[in-house]
Amino acid sequence: MTTQDVTGHDLPPGTTHATVGDREPGALALGLPSGLPGSGASGFDSHHPPEAALRGDCVHCGFCLPTCPTYVLWGEEMDSPRGRIHLMNVVAEGAPLDDATARHWDQCLGCMACVTACPSGVQYDKLIEATRAQVERHHERTWRERLQRAAIFSLFPYPRRLRAARGPLRAYQALRLASIVRSPVVQRVLPRQLATMEALAPRLGPVPEIADVTPAVGTKRRTVGFLRGCVQGAFFPDVNAATVQVLAAEGCEVHAPRTAGCCGALSGHAGREDDAIRFAKRTIDQLDALDSVVVNAAGCGSQMKDYGYLLRDEPSPWPQRATAFSERVRDVTELLVELGTVAPRHPLPVTIAYHDACHLAHAQGIRAQPRALLAEVPGVTVREIPEGDLCCGSAGVYNLLQPEPAAQLGERKARNVLATGAELLVTANPGCWMQVTTALAGLGHRMPVAHPMQLLAASIGGKSREQLLTAALDGPGTLAPG
Ligand code: SF4
Ligand code: SF4
Repeated sequence: MTTQDVTGHDLPPGTTHATVGDREPGALALGLPSGLPGSGASGFDSHHPPEAALRGDCVHCGFCLPTCPTYVLWGEEMDSPRGRIHLMNVVAEGAPLDDATARHWDQCLGCMACVTACPSGVQYDKLIEATRAQVERHHERTWRERLQRAAIFSLFPYPRRLRAARGPLRAYQALRLASIVRSPVVQRVLPRQLATMEALAPRLGPVPEIADVTPAVGTKRRTVGFLRGCVQGAFFPDVNAATVQVLAAEGCEVHAPRTAGCCGALSGHAGREDDAIRFAKRTIDQLDALDSVVVNAAGCGSQMKDYGYLLRDEPSPWPQRATAFSERVRDVTELLVELGTVAPRHPLPVTIAYHDACHLAHAQGIRAQPRALLAEVPGVTVREIPEGDLCCGSAGVYNLLQPEPAAQLGERKARNVLATGAELLVTANPGCWMQVTTALAGLGHRMPVAHPMQLLAASIGGKSREQLLTAALDGPGTLAPG
């Protein structure tokens, strides 16, 4: 007779609930001895290893397993939060940080669904970030992986380089070269990662101008700093323009320095700690003097709210500055609900599927605010997406680094979006936008997509339903506000 874990999956023969509940469930599932293998000296270095106290918070209950996308895909203990924490334990106690171990951590999306699900309050976010930094320092990657990571991290966090890439990308799209690149012959020889990058590239339109300072409409209620961001600023400039328009309409004077680019989220979530710290300091310098700091991309908000922790070892006054800064960071939907909205909304009769970005819902706990703002627009109907808590596979640059599982999750999300029968997909993260749009295209569907701020800007600006849906169908860069 087999024993099952709490998710109903069979555990290996000989496993009992007592042994699973005791300790080392991952060892049992892998057939490892439950004692800890290795030399006794930690396989991690002493610079911020995943903390023993945080690892010890995991009581192996398994409640997180059914919410973990990789466990849902493969049913493998080592690709669950519990299994990954077990691997941190065995490496901390002397097992080598080998290829297989690094692969299980690499395959984690960092979606933080396990943080939401965990009844014991395990801070998996801190654990995996510390572990990734150790992997970056100690794990020897293949030359192909090193090349790919070098290309990604020397391009995406740099707005000027991304803007330079817009020209060739627009020409590529205008010349319709994609039909050649996506032909079966070319796809057979194109590396999977390059093919993924090509498919994910958003369609680009004109770039609306955003002033350094936009005055509040009517009585000023707040002075806010706005992060233009890297990918958001270069590839989704219309989302930024719509965000500034809505903030101004709601009585905010918006300061949007052109030099406030990458917040460091991409680097931080990939374990590139030095880069993350450098970007964090620059962002603080740029936006520190303002009442609130507003962000419209889920991953960036989550990173900026953690600056205090990230900069905890930097020389004074950085830790204090970073903590005070983080306390002033707000997702734009969070700020608008805090302020209370005053700008009149015009009706937009449209049915929406609202997609929770993981770094908004799981990492920041922001679920109610975007739904409340969307529901304020007369005529809008919001439909929930089945399996809404499951990551779409975007996860920063995960879909470039791990294209196969990302594509499977993307397709699953796209099918769930289609099942809602909604006319418009609304999401607050550029990565999710690109991922789900690509997956929908793979299923032969083109669906209009918008950021919540674009929908609000369209309503405040008195746009018609047709104008909204047409612009949202044409992709980023087309839904100019006003
Ligand atoms: S962050 Fe997401 S993918 Fe990683 S272990 Fe947690 S639930 Fe699984
Ligand atoms: S991370 Fe939390 S939910 Fe998952 S096994 Fe550990 S204690 Fe249970």
